[in-house]
Amino acid sequence: MAFLLKNARVVDPQVELDEVCDILVEDGKIAQVGKGLSAANAEEIDCTGKVVTPGLVDIHVHLRDPGQEQKEDIASGTRAAAHGGFTAVACMPNTKPTIDNAITVEYVQRMAEKVGKCRVHVVGSCTQGLAGETLSEMGDMVRHGAVAFTDDGHGVQGAGMMRRVMDYANQFGKVVMSHCQDEDLVGDGVVNEGVCSTRLGMLGWPAEGEELQIARDIALCRLTGTPLHIQHITTARGVDLVRQAKAEGLPVTAEATPHHLFLNEDAIDDTYNTYLKVNPPLRTEEDRLAVTAGVLDGTIDCIVTDHAPHTDWEKDCEFAIAAFGMTGLETSLGLVLTQLVRTGVMDYAQMVQLMAVNPRSIIQVDPVTIQEGSVADLTVIDPEVEWTVSVDDFCSKAKNSGFIGATLTGRATDVFVGGVPTLRNGAIVE
Ligand SMILES: [Zn+2]
Repeated sequence: MAFLLKNARVVDPQVELDEVCDILVEDGKIAQVGKGLSAANAEEIDCTGKVVTPGLVDIHVHLRDPGQEQKEDIASGTRAAAHGGFTAVACMPNTKPTIDNAITVEYVQRMAEKVGKCRVHVVGSCTQGLAGETLSEMGDMVRHGAVAFTDDGHGVQGAGMMRRVMDYANQFGKVVMSHCQDEDLVGDGVVNEGVCSTRLGMLGWPAEGEELQIARDIALCRLTGTPLHIQHITTARGVDLVRQAKAEGLPVTAEATPHHLFLNEDAIDDTYNTYLKVNPPLRTEEDRLAVTAGVLDGTIDCIVTDHAPHTDWEKDCEFAIAAFGMTGLETSLGLVLTQLVRTGVMDYAQMVQLMAVNPRSIIQVDPVTIQEGSVADLTVIDPEVEWTVSVDDFCSKAKNSGFIGATLTGRATDVFVGGVPTLRNGAIVE
């Protein structure tokens, strides 16, 4: 199988490339990059007006498989990823059963090979059953391909346990990803504590509930030397803590989600839209601006979705008892293009850094570069197409996007994983 992508604007900051040229893809690899290429046996794809980047990667995704296939499964979740322009995801271990041993790591990898439409990197849990009490079989999971560890969905509550997790991960050279939430302080909070919780009459989830564990885990990173990745950061002080840790030279990275970048607590009004109930919650406008500034100045290393699919019955209920989380795989690129790239706040090179280069580096998988010999994981973007976010358009099983009805400009039209098309002209290749 060979493809010749003609006349694309090719953007890859890793090789200082940003120009209109052609890419020849052959046998899963990039065979040639240059102007005026031709190849007799290759299918030619006209990419005039389009942008081609190294394949996008989302390192915070809930595929819900095994055990919660009513929300999403590996087939539907990876289709949503391909539809959103991604060539790889890293999936979170809060499945049923938890991904806390080699068997479940193997299960996800085998299923992804069989039914998946993108690469799936498995993140194992830190503790068995995410209970925070006993270490998971971390070494065994690494041997079977786990790329990182997290108890996402919970913070690891005990500092001593988190230290052991980090000491263990360090032996295998793996990063620990931290969902920062002090459960004793946060309690049953459902929205940002302050104006929002008062206005809505709901229990508050204070910024400090997140910041306490960011500060603690940075201290533990200093103590253990283990790479630490702060998940879905949402507060101004949290971003400052990461900025200081980086200035100190600690191996700390961080991620932010489109919903925390493009929505704030004011979006939750008296309609009590449960799709806007997320964990951590939407914060203040000041926090949102600080997170955006962190993304732009490199304090925050990557944009991830925290794609969190749920069934209708978990969201069509009172706000207080609705499940936390929104989907994101199919809207992330469009939102970033519309809100940051088109507005001139960010250029394509920085977007590629945040959505393709840094995510791979954090989970320590091989880089993809647009040069001869690299594996052909590529995302083709039409930056001009205008579209409206609609549940009818989703490949995900779930509808719980906080951006339904939004008009966006720009989306992926074609995606190649190892030289094999998974998306052509906006449709999944079956
Ligand atoms: Zn989380």
